[in-house]
Amino acid sequence: MLILENANLQKFNTFGIDCYANRLFHLEEEKDIVEYHRHPLGYRKQQLLLGGGSNILLCSELNGSVARIEWKGITIIDETSNDLIVKVAAGENWHEFVLWALKNDLGGIENLSLIPGQVGTSPIQNIGAYGVEIKDCIKSLRYYRWNTGKIEIIDNNICDFGYRTSIFKTKWVNEGVILSVNFRLTKKNHVLNTSYGPITEELSRMEKLPSISSISKAIVNIRISKLPDPSKLGNSGSFFKNPIIKKSLLLKMQEKNPKIPFHDQKSGKVKLSAGWLIEMSGWKGKRNGDAGMHENQALVLVNYGKASGKDLLEVANLVKKDVLTCFDIKLEHEVNIIGIE
Ligand SMILES: Cc1cc2nc3c(=O)[nH]c(=O)nc-3n(C[C@H](O)[C@H](O)[C@H](O)COP(=O)(O)OP(=O)(O)OC[C@H]3O[C@@H](n4cnc5c(N)ncnc54)[C@H](O)[C@@H]3O)c2cc1C
Repeated sequence: MLILENANLQKFNTFGIDCYANRLFHLEEEKDIVEYHRHPLGYRKQQLLLGGGSNILLCSELNGSVARIEWKGITIIDETSNDLIVKVAAGENWHEFVLWALKNDLGGIENLSLIPGQVGTSPIQNIGAYGVEIKDCIKSLRYYRWNTGKIEIIDNNICDFGYRTSIFKTKWVNEGVILSVNFRLTKKNHVLNTSYGPITEELSRMEKLPSISSISKAIVNIRISKLPDPSKLGNSGSFFKNPIIKKSLLLKMQEKNPKIPFHDQKSGKVKLSAGWLIEMSGWKGKRNGDAGMHENQALVLVNYGKASGKDLLEVANLVKKDVLTCFDIKLEHEVNIIGIE
C-alpha cells in the first residue's frame, strides 16, 4: 500500500479537474483494504473511494483521504455446459475485461465495450449501453462492510438493480467496498443483442455478420465516432439520466411537442431522451467559460480547459433549471457529486 501526501487528482478523474487530496492511498492488493480500514489516517478520514474516476465530479479540494482501488485478477471459478462463472477483481479495467471475455469466446458483455472505469464499479450504477445492462450477467459480488470489517457475499437479487442504480447508490451508499464481482458469461449459444439500430447499420458498413466480436467492434466504432474522448476533452459521459415518466404525462407533452422522442418501458412507463430535452432547452454546444454541454452530444457535460468542479456543477444546475422551465421535467444527475453536502 503506497500513501502519497498532498496528492493531485487531475489524472485520476476523467473530467480532468485539477484538485488535491490531503492523502492518496494506493490499495494495490485486496488485503490492503484491512490495513487502510485500521490506519489512523485511512478510512477514519476517508472522503472518497476512487475507481477509474469516470463517474465523479470533484467539487472541492479533499481535506481527508482518498483510497484508490488497484488490485487485479481474473479467475474462472465454475462452469456449466453453457456458462462460465468468472471472478474479477474490483481494480480490473472494465474494457480490458471485455477484451479478455472476447478473446476467450465468452458472451454477455460485448455490448458494454469501451465503457470507461473499473469492474468493481460496474454494479454500482448497473452500467448499461446499447440495449444491455450488467445486472443480467452479475451472479454475485464480494463486499467488505466498513462497520463490521467483514466480507459478505451479495447475490444479484439483493443488489436492487434498476436503471443506472443499485443498492450501492441508495441504501448502502458509502457503507462498504466491492472487492470482486462474479459474472456468468456464455460459452456457447450466445444471445446477441442488435436491437439498437446503429449496431445493425455499423455491422453492414463493416460487412460483418453479428457475432460477439463483430458487435463489440461495431460498438467501439460507434462510441469513438459519437462520444468525446476524456483523454482529450474532460467529461464523464452522460451527465444526466434519461427521465422515466408516466405515459399520461407524455401525451400531455406531445400536445406542445409532437416530435418528442421516447422509448416504451416494460413497466408501462416511457423513457425520454435527456439529450433531446437539453438540446431543445438551448444548451447543445452552449458554454459558460470552460464549462459547457458538448456540441454534438447535448447530454455530455464538458471541461473545455480549466473549469473547476464548481464551474461544471453550475452549468449542470442551469441546464436542470432550463429543462424544468421548458418541459416541467426534473433531470437527475447520473454522475456522483463529491465535496458538496
Ligand atoms: C466517455 C464516457 C462514456 C461513458 N459511457 C457510459 C455508458 O455507456 N454506460 C454507463 O453506464 N456508464 C458510462 N459512463 C460512466 C462510467 O464509465 C461508469 O459509471 C463506470 O462504471 C464508473 O466507473 P469508475 O471505476 O470510473 O467509477 P468512479 O468514478 O471511480 O466511482 C464511481 C462511484 O463508485 C464509488 N466506488 C468506486 N469504486 C468502488 C468500489 N470498489 N466499491 C464501492 N464503491 C466504489 C466511488 O466512490 C464513486 O461514488 C461513461 C463515462 C465516460 C467518461
